[in-house]
Amino acid sequence: MNTQEKKQQIKELLKIHYGFEEFRLGQEKVIDNILNNKSTIVIMPTGGGKSLCYQLPSLVLEGVTIVISPLIALMKDQVDRLGQIGIPATFINSSISFAETTSRLGAVERGFYKIIYIAPERFYNIEFIKSLKRIKVSLFAVDEAHCISEWGHDFRPSYVKLREAINLVGNPTVVALTATATPEVRKDIIKQLGLQNPELIITGFSRPNLEFGVVQASESRKPQYVLDVVSSMPEGAGIVYVSTRARADQLLQTLLEHNIEAVGYHAGMEAEDRKWVQNDFLNNKARVIVATNAFGLGIDKSDVRFVVHYDMPGTIEAYYQEAGRAGRDGKPSMCLLLYNSRDRYLQEFFIKGDNPPTEIIYEIYDTLLSYETDSVLITYAELAETLTDKVPDMAIGTSLKILETGGYISRSREKNGNAFLKLLYNYEDILSKFGKRAKKGKEIFSKLYEKYEDELNNGWDLNFEEIADVLGVKKDALVRLVRQLVSEEKVEYRPPFKGTEIRILKRVDVNKLNIDTNSLEKKRKNAYQKLKKMENYIYHIDCRQKYLLDYFGDNDSGICHKCDICVTKNYL
Ligand code: ADP
Ligand code: MG
Repeated sequence: MNTQEKKQQIKELLKIHYGFEEFRLGQEKVIDNILNNKSTIVIMPTGGGKSLCYQLPSLVLEGVTIVISPLIALMKDQVDRLGQIGIPATFINSSISFAETTSRLGAVERGFYKIIYIAPERFYNIEFIKSLKRIKVSLFAVDEAHCISEWGHDFRPSYVKLREAINLVGNPTVVALTATATPEVRKDIIKQLGLQNPELIITGFSRPNLEFGVVQASESRKPQYVLDVVSSMPEGAGIVYVSTRARADQLLQTLLEHNIEAVGYHAGMEAEDRKWVQNDFLNNKARVIVATNAFGLGIDKSDVRFVVHYDMPGTIEAYYQEAGRAGRDGKPSMCLLLYNSRDRYLQEFFIKGDNPPTEIIYEIYDTLLSYETDSVLITYAELAETLTDKVPDMAIGTSLKILETGGYISRSREKNGNAFLKLLYNYEDILSKFGKRAKKGKEIFSKLYEKYEDELNNGWDLNFEEIADVLGVKKDALVRLVRQLVSEEKVEYRPPFKGTEIRILKRVDVNKLNIDTNSLEKKRKNAYQKLKKMENYIYHIDCRQKYLLDYFGDNDSGICHKCDICVTKNYL
């Protein structure tokens, strides 16, 4: 088939699989590039329709399309949805056992799937990389590609492995997609992925249906503003973003006291609760979700009528991405930012946590060296106690990350939060001893064994949440089963270790530590500059939408006529 025929076919597939008549802005061009083996960077706002850009061509490409995404929790849903529209897909992430991974890769090899979603962390595993070599990969799609950049707002160290991964699978066409448009992130994506002359496709960032506004509000007045917004919009759902977990809990209480159907969401909650809350919001069982920035990536709810920022975010990128979750259906929606001078201090606190002074890094390394073994099991709080100055946990995490990048230590990523489990007797023996009333436990036990026989016999690091998810059972029920097996001494069990296992890879004199202080300094400065640009938005005295678009390099937009500033000017 030639390219022209492929293009025609693609258009038909758009209708058949997705039921859409037309491409959205930019989609066709991206797909064209992919069919012509041209690596491409796609910058499209949230909700713009990036996924389709790699899903659709995968159907006509010969081999398989690998999709890298940091949104592990959403992979299963995405794959299920693709299955429903007739695009065979599968996924591989930490919730999948080794045996299952092998079997899925086998199926990929035999051509059962067109798309395979892979969590970037998988590329830490040499065996896994080797097993990929047998697969013919035609397209390598990097979703949320800004995660590769340390200058971005959501850096994931595992994304740095992707360049190597691309090489190992035979340098297929690469498409990198993101909603973050700043030039430095863009440059970083190209550099980190090792792309040669990629084409850049940027589509409209303007969101004409959004009304932006900023209100200076003292801490005590902020809740009232939120209540006002909610009551001024009798229909439709909204998101209120807050900067910390504690503030999420607090504001949620206030809303509930005023009989507003609200739910809260933050990273401190159990995965199961988060899913539940998220579903309530998606299914309109809750009108308002009070959330930290942990909420929203990959969420597809089109009728969000307002997004209130209860606190100022640290960057315009974060702000526009979060605010942009309003009004994806194109109907008028409001984006309100509440601000007072306290907000700056909080953001500075975050920046400091992200950019610890070099002395702290040295001191932490020194502490680690004082251990005689190379494997140190320690929590951040314990580490913090050994330091002369008090620093937040966040600064400790960052310092360890820097030492890790320098090759001095390594942290076990995959083991974090995992428990160890091993059967002490054979399966049938254990199974036969289940009492009559333990029917549920018995059922879960046999399901578990069916999926993870080798693992259970040889000893296994498991994550309860993920396994419960895979088995389709409640995490509590799984925990109860394991607790019972432990009390009956049928298994060897170690509870999840809540700290980090740190391995010392190199022991050198502390003053010989080779840490790139220049680039750390650059990163710190960059963060402060971004904060300044965010603050400038607050004090801006011209069209707010235009300010945002200018920031993203979309320089020829007109004024919006509906933000607080434009509206005020109209009256003057
Ligand atoms: P992004 O990843 O850019 O944030 P998604 O790929 O999740 O956006 O798509 C957002 C929504 O737009 C989805 O509901 C998707 O089905 C819809 N969509 C994508 N392309 C089209 C199209 N050509 N016509 C109509 N709807 C589309
Ligand atoms: Mg997306």
